[in-house]
Amino acid sequence: MSVWPLRFAETGNGDFLFSDEAGGFFRSNDGFLARYAYDDLSEWDRVFLTGRGHAFCEEGDHHYVGFASRWAKRQFVPGPLDYIILVPTLRCDLACSYCQVSRANENARGFDWDEATLEATLALLDGLATTQIKIEFQGGEPLLRLDLLNLVREFCRQRFASAEFVVCSNLQNVSDEGWTFLAAPDTHLSTSFDGDAPTHTRQRTVDPRRTDKFLANLERAVAIFGPDKVSALPTIDPNHAPPPETIIASYSRLGLRSVYLRPINYQGFARKRFGRAGEDGWADYYQRFIEALIRYNADAAAPMEEYYLSHCLRRIFRGGHHGHVDLRNPNLLGADYMVVDFDGILYPTDEARMMTRIGQIDLSIGSVFAGLDRERVAALNGAADNNFHEDCTLCVFQPFCGVDLIDDLSRYNRIDLPKHETEFCRRHTAIFRKIFELIYRDDDATRRSLAAWLDIPVFDPALAPVHG
Ligand code: SF4
Repeated sequence: MSVWPLRFAETGNGDFLFSDEAGGFFRSNDGFLARYAYDDLSEWDRVFLTGRGHAFCEEGDHHYVGFASRWAKRQFVPGPLDYIILVPTLRCDLACSYCQVSRANENARGFDWDEATLEATLALLDGLATTQIKIEFQGGEPLLRLDLLNLVREFCRQRFASAEFVVCSNLQNVSDEGWTFLAAPDTHLSTSFDGDAPTHTRQRTVDPRRTDKFLANLERAVAIFGPDKVSALPTIDPNHAPPPETIIASYSRLGLRSVYLRPINYQGFARKRFGRAGEDGWADYYQRFIEALIRYNADAAAPMEEYYLSHCLRRIFRGGHHGHVDLRNPNLLGADYMVVDFDGILYPTDEARMMTRIGQIDLSIGSVFAGLDRERVAALNGAADNNFHEDCTLCVFQPFCGVDLIDDLSRYNRIDLPKHETEFCRRHTAIFRKIFELIYRDDDATRRSLAAWLDIPVFDPALAPVHG
């Protein structure tokens, strides 16, 4: 019998978490660790490891093929380019203190698509190999150019068999035409709400009357379109954030069931103004938020989730869960999604666009006029996976984790730091540690939340395997 390589990490009280490269995991103790390390496995160890898919008898047997299949599902293989973020204008009618993007004043000139950029963008869309498309309108405030949004949407509806649209709006000023645009069944709304009115005012609107107007618009959007069509994200400065219970109550009152806590991004204007302020205290705040959610869900008729935690949890239990572009492995850039800026320049991600805008490094990968610069894309993707990184290969969380080269470049101007010195690694180590602590917690309320976040009826304790 051969055992696939196991990674391990201490979880306390002499216990260890073990995982293999295909994402199988279990908890055991230092006795098993010693037997594994010294190649002195007992018969019971062998039965357990083979039965759980951590070992095989001979190459090509069903244990071997099963492992290979699970491993393959853990690898992200990009499909055709079918997710495009469009920035038809950089102009915005707010100047949020935590704005990630390099926005321009509402009345500024030269920050919108011109006729040639619009035409070239439509030509780029027309040339795509896909039959389904997802378009995300960003800005600036995209509703300032409803005319462009309408043109793109009409074009896509006719060109593709299926088309889906997301408008990322500050929802501060919405015209009658804007409400009509958002009401279409294929169009979703994404906005930012920082958890309570005082925080939203401090971080975004400056004036409480503007916050009231925003909240009225958000309530109207949820009431008319329903919570499935509206998402809102709070940007959290852990040193000045509302208590977790306040955010949960605010979102619950609005009828929203998913909260995606965003740290202050180390990008764009936020980087210039706040530096790394958001890194300190994040893990502590995040953990308190998750515990507050579990308490809330214990007797809530409709449980709530923190979106990113649910995503990481699902990546632990399911191979092939690659739907979030910030956490994939390999995280190949310039493949299945990209950004078209206000001037027609292409970027692999919105963060890459921001870094280029503030002059840190040019991460553009072509333009709608000249097409994709495949050499630049290939250069960016030179280290896009964690399978062979000397730190990640020893990490018990590797099969569930990913890579974010743009974040590393943004924070450290390099991509070769030891992983544990990067914010990406620290944040994901904390999240995965927390999730495994929850998975092995003997508590009904926690299991109720885990079931809701995994979208399964019951979280059976057998989902948390232990080898004694
Ligand atoms: S980035 Fe950090 S947490 Fe993720 S696999 Fe690598 S070492 Fe582990």
